[in-house]
Amino acid sequence: MKKIVHLILFVFCLISCTLICRALTDQSALFTTEQMAPLKKDLRQIKANCSSMCALFPENLLNEARMDPYLFYIVDKDNSLPSNYTPTDLVGEGKAKVRQETFDAFEKMAQAAQKEDINLWILSGFRSFQRQTEIYNRSLANRGPEHTDKFIARPGQSQHQLGTAVDINSVENSFVNTKEYAWLKENAETFGFSLSFPEGQQEKTGYAFEPWHYRYITPLGATLQKIYFHDSQVDFLNTLNACLEENCYNM
Ligand SMILES: [Zn+2]
Repeated sequence: MKKIVHLILFVFCLISCTLICRALTDQSALFTTEQMAPLKKDLRQIKANCSSMCALFPENLLNEARMDPYLFYIVDKDNSLPSNYTPTDLVGEGKAKVRQETFDAFEKMAQAAQKEDINLWILSGFRSFQRQTEIYNRSLANRGPEHTDKFIARPGQSQHQLGTAVDINSVENSFVNTKEYAWLKENAETFGFSLSFPEGQQEKTGYAFEPWHYRYITPLGATLQKIYFHDSQVDFLNTLNACLEENCYNM
């Protein structure tokens, strides 16, 4: 009798495990571009899909986000950083200063690129709230509000204040035609860097295409973004933050 009970339990476990594994590997098929589109302004969909969507994030990524609240912090036209926020682990020289983990990841990426004759450097890294205020005000005076809000973040709304965003090599649109850009497009994610303002996503990101501006979101984060979030940093960060807030990972 005992043996029969054990056998039934074993078969039950086997079937459940198979179903769970199949559901997890099928996750990417759950979300279409249309479903992802409203996520920026409307978190209802995330909450409705909470258990399946939040299950996409491994526990170690969620722990990293909890330990370092600014690593995946949403900074955009609706979400500002505190004016007094300055990272405590900035390293590097002058305008190229970034947080330690971003610095190490960039070094690794630049070394890998060098092997293929690609030169990458940080043109602009951390920018303080005060510095962003100067840049924003100067653009406002010289080029007017419409141009300024399309291209320049308001103070507190720049990813550069995080110390994890970098402008690589150039801030000219012609950067898109370089072999450096082509290399980054293929490889940046492996080192944890994600293009913040991709082409054709102005409605979602709030900014025109910036082929040079990357944000460090860890190699695991960048990989998940690519596989499950149609390579959209906005969707990845909004979903991750909703999952952290709702704590629906454990639902
Ligand atoms: Zn930038």
